[in-house]
Amino acid sequence: MSNDDSLIMVVSAPSGTGKTSICRSLLQEIPTLKFSVSYTTREPRKGELEGRDYHFVTAAVFQEKIRAGEFAEWAENYGHLYGTSRVVIEETRRQGGDILLDVEPRGARAIKESYPEGVFVFVLPPDLEELHKRLWKRGDGDEEMRRRRFLKAEDEIKEVFWYDYVVVNDRLEEAIARVKAIYLAEKCRRERQMVIISTFLAKRPSL
Ligand code: ADP
Ligand code: 5GP
Repeated sequence: MSNDDSLIMVVSAPSGTGKTSICRSLLQEIPTLKFSVSYTTREPRKGELEGRDYHFVTAAVFQEKIRAGEFAEWAENYGHLYGTSRVVIEETRRQGGDILLDVEPRGARAIKESYPEGVFVFVLPPDLEELHKRLWKRGDGDEEMRRRRFLKAEDEIKEVFWYDYVVVNDRLEEAIARVKAIYLAEKCRRERQMVIISTFLAKRPSL
């Protein structure tokens, strides 16, 4: 399969909107979609697994990876470092596979510079009051951390204008269905069907 058939889908949302919930369901429903497991220096949350949700590393290990040029992009969020592995993206693309990234808008912008053909989806909470509730409901970190995440949300939402798609996560099941619909429609784009088209054209019964 050629690189052109593979799809990079980037999902961003202010922290607490529900993108982890959406991405997890999407990955279950679409087994061929691979998650780009980021590196982070933050502590695992309850229920998070090393290698599935993140690679949890020390700041020293993270800095070493920056020096070695291992990240396609990296950023500091709320005092912790987060980075996307370049090798995982490149290897998945080389094999013609599809990859899902969960990164905040700065990281997403850097990915767009390297991979302009990517599909960029912004998930919005129904409103800021609901976002506030969800951040507090999740309950990780201390009060100050939740406050910082909430204050950053408004800045992040300003980035919505350069994304390709917007999905409001009001009812979770509906938001999952919409992100899945985006994925399926993007997979059907003619430019991502070139292998199928050329295979089709190469096969002709003898008359
Ligand atoms: P993010 O990854 O965007 O930070 P999470 O997926 O961790 O967000 O969701 C934050 C909290 O909101 C979690 O407690 C999650 O169960 C809850 N949540 C997610 N989507 C919805 C929704 N549509 N309605 C109500 N609560 C939701
Ligand atoms: P959380 O700590 O809630 O899992 O993530 C905090 C923020 O970091 C979220 O907005 C999430 O999308 C973002 N994030 C996760 N992985 C990466 C990454 O590899 N690079 C960047 N730039 N942001 C990331």
